Amino acid sequence: MTRVAVIYTGGTIGMRPGPQGLAPDTDLPSLLAPPPVPENRFELDWHTWSPLLDSSQIQPAHWQQLGREVEDRLHDHAAVLVLHGTDTMAYTASALALQLGALKGPVILTGSQRPWHEAGSDARDNWHQALVATQLPGLSEVTIAFGGRLLRGIQSHKADAASDAAFESPRHPPLALWRDHPAQPSHWQRSDAPAGWYDKRTAFHPDYRNQTVWCQQWAPGHPLIPAAQLQAMGIRVLLLTLFGTGNGPSEDPAFTGWLADLKNLGILVVGLSECEKGIIHRGAYAAGSALLNAGLLPAFGMTREAAYTKALYLCACEPTAGPERLAEQFLQNLAGEMPTR
Ligand code: ASP
Repeated sequence: MTRVAVIYTGGTIGMRPGPQGLAPDTDLPSLLAPPPVPENRFELDWHTWSPLLDSSQIQPAHWQQLGREVEDRLHDHAAVLVLHGTDTMAYTASALALQLGALKGPVILTGSQRPWHEAGSDARDNWHQALVATQLPGLSEVTIAFGGRLLRGIQSHKADAASDAAFESPRHPPLALWRDHPAQPSHWQRSDAPAGWYDKRTAFHPDYRNQTVWCQQWAPGHPLIPAAQLQAMGIRVLLLTLFGTGNGPSEDPAFTGWLADLKNLGILVVGLSECEKGIIHRGAYAAGSALLNAGLLPAFGMTREAAYTKALYLCACEPTAGPERLAEQFLQNLAGEMPTR
């Protein structure tokens, strides 16, 4: 018998229709026990959040709370399953991976695109597959089990708002794929993805109270928020989503002057690509190199979710660190967030 802790935070998986659309409902644990797994080989300990949340309501303080709950449960359970809405699941998975450090067992997030109650819902398959994934040997990292794919959580991204295969990890192969087998029990087949991520850090769940990271998606001719305004707000890292390999309007003096102001005021600027695949290169184009020369730090191929949670996490862990220290930490592969392709 495998003892698995299930933390039910909310999400579509347990929602029912209400006057304004789908909203979380508390009856899911009674529907899911006993688990729909042939040998009934799991003992489940449920912890249901109150209130249950649509994951678009999740805030960094919830990551701190959830991280503590997961860490506590891993002391006396073989694995922890987190039932979570899909909208911010990749952010939560990234934050958990950063917070939890070395894991004693797998932490698996799942949910569904359609409620458990709806005919033909993906909820049953995702729940079943997530439970079975708790038994995969050597899986001690934070993962997302969804739509027949087991993905590294900190490299995952919600790529589809409708289909069952909602999540992708565009720069890391799936850790395992679900194989439906007519003649033998269906199972996860491990892929040739590089061996599991073994984190050596100890768990730490920082207080994210301060708002320290500003996200800016660049678009041609976009207005520039004054650097002094960001500084007055307490912003320490600006995540700037750029074109392609990390290119922007390097010949526009207003833009380069803005980057210089940010640098002078001690705000670290991290460059992301708006493309889901490929990574930011140094020196691919003059329009990108000029930005790097102006002090922009490339996030290489980190997902937006990983880069955002990592920047928040580092600022919360080191409240007085300056931009050089934050940049040095940002470039470390802390929890498997740096891509391998
Ligand atoms: N809005 C829902 C949530 O993130 C969507 C879902 O669960 O699929 O909670």
